[in-house]
Amino acid sequence: MKFAILSKGDDKSNNLCAKIKSYLTEFELEYNEEVPDLVISVGGDGTLLEAFHQYVHRLDQTAFIGIHTGHLGFYADWMPSELEKLIIEIAKTPFQVVEYPLLEVIIRPKNGGEESRYLALNECTIKTSEGSVVFDVEIKGDHFETFRGDGLCISTPSGSTAYNKALGGAILHPSLEAIQIAEMASINNRVFRTIGSPLILPGHHTCLLKPLHDKSFMITVDHITHTYKDVKSIQFRVGKEKVRFARFRPFPFWKRVRDSFVADDRE
Ligand code: NAP
Ligand code: MN
Repeated sequence: MKFAILSKGDDKSNNLCAKIKSYLTEFELEYNEEVPDLVISVGGDGTLLEAFHQYVHRLDQTAFIGIHTGHLGFYADWMPSELEKLIIEIAKTPFQVVEYPLLEVIIRPKNGGEESRYLALNECTIKTSEGSVVFDVEIKGDHFETFRGDGLCISTPSGSTAYNKALGGAILHPSLEAIQIAEMASINNRVFRTIGSPLILPGHHTCLLKPLHDKSFMITVDHITHTYKDVKSIQFRVGKEKVRFARFRPFPFWKRVRDSFVADDRE
C-alpha cells in the first residue's frame, strides 16, 4: 500500500508527520505522493480540505484520514494520543472505507466559452464585492425565486457543520445524498422576496443560478476562492464522485457533532 502525508505546517503537525512516515515505512508501506492509496492529513479540517483538493483527480483510488493537532475536527477525528493504535491499524490493510457525497459545481460563461467544473467537500459560496448578488434561482428546471442579497451557500452533508451551520442551515447526516442551499442576508421587502429558509435538495435535483447583472463573482469552493466575470449560469447538484474516508473504528457522525458543538466528555 502507498501512502502520502499532508501537514498543516506547524511544528506539532510536522513532528507528527515525520513520526508517522518513519513508523509506516518500517511496516514496509511505501511513501508515494503521486499515487497514494491513503492520504493522511495532520492538522485540522482545513488541512483535510487541502488534501482533498490535492487528490481530487483520483478520488476513486485514494482514501483519506485526518489527525487533528488543534481542536477536534469533523474530518480530522483522530487524536495524536491515538497515533500508535492508528499506525497498527493502517499497517494491517486492507481497511474499511465510508463514502460521503460531494457537491458538483459547473460555471458556464457567457458567449459560449468553456465551462469550469469543481467538486466541493464542504460547500460553494457565491458573493460579490460589487454590492448585492442578484440571480434567478431555478430548481429542477423551474423558476423558484429571484435572490437579492449577500450571497448563497450550497453545501454537502459533511459540510453542513461548517459555513452552512453559521448561516442557520440544518446539520445533515452524510449518508443522505443531498445538497443544502442557505441564504446570506437576503433582501426581503415588498419588492424582493425569497423563501428565507434553507432548502435541502435530493440527489436528482439541480439548482441553477442565473445572474441578472454583469458583476464579478467570488465563487468559493471550500477554502479556495475563484473570481469569475461574464457568468451565464452556475449549476449545483450532488456529484457522481464520492469522497472515501478510511475507517478504523466507529465514530458516529452525531457523536462528532455533539463532541464539537455541545460537550466533549473526553476532555
Ligand atoms: P478556516 O477559516 O480555518 O475555517 C473555519 C473553521 O471551519 C475552522 O475552525 C475549521 O476547522 C472549520 N471547519 C472546516 N470544515 C468543517 C466541517 N466540515 N465541519 C465543521 N467545521 C469545519 O478555513 P479553512 O480551515 O480553510 O476551512 C475552510 C472552511 O471554512 C470553508 O469550507 C467554510 O466551511 C468555513 N468557513 C466558515 C465560515 C463561517 O462559519 N462563518 C466563514 C468562511 C468559511 P479547522 O480549524 O480544524 O481547520
Ligand atoms: Mn483552518
